Parts: sequence; C-alpha cells; structure tokens
Amino acid sequence: MIVGGGLVGLTAAASLKIIGHEVIVLEKAPRIRAAGAGIGLWANALRQFDHLGIGPEIRAMGIDQNMWFFTPAGDPVRAPGHTDSDHQFLLVPRPELNNLLADTIGRDRIHVDAHVTGYTETESDVVVHLANGETIRAGLLIGSDGVHSNVRKQLVPGSDAVNHSGHYAWRAIVPTGNQRSETTVLTVGHRRTRGGYARVAPGRTVWMVNQFDAGPLTGSKRERALERGRQLAEAGWNDDLLSMIAETPEESILENQITLVPELPRWTSTRVALIGDAAHGLSPHIASGGTLGIEDVGVLCGSLTAEAGLDKALAAYDHARGARFQTVREHSAAIEHAGDAAEFARRYAAFSHWMLTTAPVT
Ligand SMILES: Cc1cc2nc3c(=O)[nH]c(=O)nc-3n(C[C@H](O)[C@H](O)[C@H](O)COP(=O)(O)OP(=O)(O)OC[C@H]3O[C@@H](n4cnc5c(N)ncnc54)[C@H](O)[C@@H]3O)c2cc1C
Repeated sequence: MIVGGGLVGLTAAASLKIIGHEVIVLEKAPRIRAAGAGIGLWANALRQFDHLGIGPEIRAMGIDQNMWFFTPAGDPVRAPGHTDSDHQFLLVPRPELNNLLADTIGRDRIHVDAHVTGYTETESDVVVHLANGETIRAGLLIGSDGVHSNVRKQLVPGSDAVNHSGHYAWRAIVPTGNQRSETTVLTVGHRRTRGGYARVAPGRTVWMVNQFDAGPLTGSKRERALERGRQLAEAGWNDDLLSMIAETPEESILENQITLVPELPRWTSTRVALIGDAAHGLSPHIASGGTLGIEDVGVLCGSLTAEAGLDKALAAYDHARGARFQTVREHSAAIEHAGDAAEFARRYAAFSHWMLTTAPVT
C-alpha cells in the first residue's frame, strides 16, 4: 500500500509491481498530477526507469542539460577537476512523467480522492485509515506522501516539516518557440539568488528564480520574481530570463516557501517505510531530491528481494539510506553556504560527482 501518488510513490508502485508485488496507490488529490514545472533527473534515477523498461520513453520526453553555472555578469564558472559527466541531467516535464508512471502501474491500481489520515500496525498487517472512514489492510505500508506526510507524523511524532526561513522559489513553464533558449543557463547571482532557464520540451522553457534569506515579500509574484531575476542579470546578461518572467501571466507563476523535513531517527518500523520527500524533503538548491527519492525505491526493492523477512529488509533499507543521507545533508549545507558563484559551482560539482559515483547499484 503506497500513500502518495507523486513522482516517488508512483515509481515505487511501478517498481514493486515489476518484482511481483500487488500494489495499490492511495492519492488524496482527485487525479494524478504533478506540482511544479520540470524536474532534473540524474543518471542514478534514469537507471531505475531503465529497470522498469520506460527509460527510452523518458529520455525521449526530456532534454539533456548540464549543471554548469554562470556568474551574475555571465562568465561561465567551471569546477576544476570535474568533467561533463558530473554535470549532466535530463530535464523532463513533470506532468508527462507522472502520467507515464501512472500508465505503467495501471490506473486501476491507483485510488484517487483517498486521503490517508493514519494507520494501525499489528503483528500480521497494517490497517490504513482514510478520511472518509474506510480502512484498508496491507502487508507493507509505504509513506511517499511528501513533505507534510501523515505517515511520517505517526511513525516519528514531532517530525513536522519546518519553513526554511526566507527561502523561496518562483518558476513557470512558458512557450518560447524553438529559436530561443536552446541551452541551460543557470546563474548564481547577488544577494543569495540562483536561477535561470532551460528548455524542458520542444517549444517550452522553464524559468526559475530562487533566493535564500529573501526578507519580507512585496508586490505581485511576477514583481517578486523579477526583483530576484535582476540579481542574476548584470549589464544585459540574462535579458532573456527577465523578459520571460515579465511576459508570464501572474496565474502561471508558481511561488513556494521552501519547507524542510528534519533529520529523522528512523525511516521504518516493522511494516512501514518512508520514501522520497516524506523521509528527506530537502532544500531544492541541490536539484536532486526527486532523484534521491527514486534511489530510495531501488534500495527498498533490492532489500525486499534480497532479505528473508520484511523486518530484515526494512532494517537494511533504513540503515543504507540513513548513511547516504548523512553525506547528502553535509553537501547540501556546504553548497547553501558557498560565498560566491565559483564556490557554489565547486561545491555543487563535488556533490553531484559524489552522488553519481557512489549511487547504489540496484
Ligand atoms: C523548486 C524545486 C525544484 C526541484 N528540482 C528538482 C530537480 O531538478 N531534480 C530533482 O531530483 N528534484 C528536484 N526537486 C525535489 C523534488 O521535486 C521532490 O524531491 C520530489 O518531487 C518528491 O516527490 P515525492 O513523490 O516524494 O513527493 P510529492 O511530489 O510531494 O508527492 C506526494 C504525494 O502525496 C500526496 N499526499 C500527501 N498527503 C497525502 C495523504 N495524507 N493521503 C494521500 N496522499 C497524500 C500528494 O497529493 C502528492 O501527490 C525540486 C524541488 C523544488 C521545490
């Protein structure tokens, strides 16, 4: 039983189904959707999709990008000692990706309008409680219900997500034709801003602007994004970004206060496991929370296959992911506190190199 039909829950359902489990996804929304615009998938995530047989379709729907950065004046910053392979990812439109996953699972396995409020764990099973009063029994409950997870609240009381004070993200997908913005432009700007744009699909570009320590917000969403965008655009550099923001209708702009999941003492109990943002919702400046959630799925499926008994499988999963996320958190903090674009780029490359070269083989 998988609670939450976001990217990671859907990937878990498809992956468990392929290794022979009966799966049901419970999603509180009235349909499968994907909050957000585009998502960068790194090689470690794409391998899991290859196992599912949908790697080629996902590569066809996305566009290869690289995580090279520019200074606010438009000078490219390169991280010495790192090669192209440390920077490459595939940018995919989120709604198409989630729809493909839902089709792979089979829509009849996905129950929408199913808001999970809690569960009761017994020795022989786990009973899931829904807001409409229904209960459903399962052998294993997987909480992939995102940053504000109800499953996590019960598994680890007092683990509510907290605002990452002053950290905001603005973004939108805009039609740009095929002539413009062919490449990724990601800039580390003044006043702790980051952002840029990237082609997400033929004729469509995603722009994004982020700021740490933003202070009080004033004006419309477009004005707020433009104000930060100007910190990424010295002397004509990034005019494309500014005009994309200026031309985006207010209602198409997504604005988020970033929230974080505190470090948890455990991700599992006897019959319950957390995966994805429910377990480790981190700051998006590492642009790999979803990718690492997909890694969770590979490790969980590997443990369920390799270990004799659910308790051993969940203990192995918990141990492996706890150790990996210790290092993810260290990298994330180091990048966040980089002093300038060059340091940000160096620390980011050190992280992506580490993530890709030490990814679990599943
Ligand atoms: C601005 C931004 C940029 C990012 N860029 C990247 C990137 O480039 N690459 C990358 O890898 N990651 C990126 N991330 C991180 C990535 O978006 C997340 O890690 C990923 O979407 C988490 O997926 P999830 O399935 O765990 O959670 P979610 O996508 O949050 O899905 C949770 C699902 O659970 C459902 N749900 C919640 N509560 C309940 C309930 N009680 N009952 C039933 N259903 C419930 C929700 O409706 C939702 O469908 C970014 C994040 C942000 C904010």
